[in-house]
Amino acid sequence: MIALAAAPFAMPAACPVNNVPPVVEEVLAPGEEASLIARIKTLLIERDAVLVAHYYTSAALQRLAEETGGCVSDSLEMARFGHAAKQQTLVVAGVRFMGETAKILNPEKRVLMPDRRAECSLDLSCPAEDFSRFCDAHPEREVVVYANTSAAVKARADWMVTSSIAVKVVAHLHAQGKRLIWAPDRYLGDYVRKATGADMLLWQGSCVVHEKFKADGIEALKAEYADAAVLVHPESPAGVIALADVVGSTTQLIRAAAELPQRTLIVATDNGIFHKMQLAAPGKTLLEAPTGGQGATCVSCAHCPWMAMNSLKGLLHVLETGADEIRVDPAVGRRAVVSINRMLAFAGQAGIGIAGMSGD
Ligand code: SF4
Repeated sequence: MIALAAAPFAMPAACPVNNVPPVVEEVLAPGEEASLIARIKTLLIERDAVLVAHYYTSAALQRLAEETGGCVSDSLEMARFGHAAKQQTLVVAGVRFMGETAKILNPEKRVLMPDRRAECSLDLSCPAEDFSRFCDAHPEREVVVYANTSAAVKARADWMVTSSIAVKVVAHLHAQGKRLIWAPDRYLGDYVRKATGADMLLWQGSCVVHEKFKADGIEALKAEYADAAVLVHPESPAGVIALADVVGSTTQLIRAAAELPQRTLIVATDNGIFHKMQLAAPGKTLLEAPTGGQGATCVSCAHCPWMAMNSLKGLLHVLETGADEIRVDPAVGRRAVVSINRMLAFAGQAGIGIAGMSGD
């Protein structure tokens, strides 16, 4: 019998995510929100739980997190806040990789999510087995993955990075002569590659929200609001990034909104960020970067359908029942935490503050 050599794994030209759900916002009857919030506040105390919410969740969830001593932040800070919190249960309002990151950094705590079906197209576009075979086919390359990945993909990586530190980490590796694999976001990977000149093989994932922003739509808005500044998250296409006054992570964009002198801001990221951004920049006019116009195909137009799955009713349900607990295989978690800690150690040595290091 002739043994056939395994074919090298070829990276797909694109990794589209099918069956993106529609955006469905929670609609409550008059008085229902107040009653849900009252019950949730009681249960958070009874269950020794703290709520950590991402910037892209609803304003109601963000307000509730802050009113109850939790936090509203990016994925990494959510996990770090949870680690420092005295409560034994973390309720993560966000998407699954955020719940997993919280569990990886807090294996001794219980992590719940208001809706465990909340996915992320970047995570979905990078199945761990496919990605591992791709890495195996390029053993000479160091593996750098973005925070928006599963625990298993983080476990396969040498480094996990967030959007705000990605350029610095990759520049550091490039200076050491290292060649890299980058996953999963091809737009962020392209941005980092251009910024550093590093030799990077890019996985072809994308965010269904950010890839729909349109450069021509932003140009048209700029023509109308000549003094407006453009704020862009680097998961957006290169043509959109090229128009930016500021490119940054969620936390960096909120900070920029407060600090920029312009009174009108065109914002190319999930519109859930407007709640905190408006609080940080009161009196400024925030405009959603267009996703429509010529060639528009967006289903999730400037708002993530999976983030929208986080609801007050779902939150109450998991607090009442303990359903939708996030579990990570302990062996996978122990490997994944190595890639996260490598980034944190790099940030510490480089004197980069953790606050504002955002994954999404
Ligand atoms: S906005 Fe994009 S990157 Fe963020 S969770 Fe949703 S699909 Fe993922």
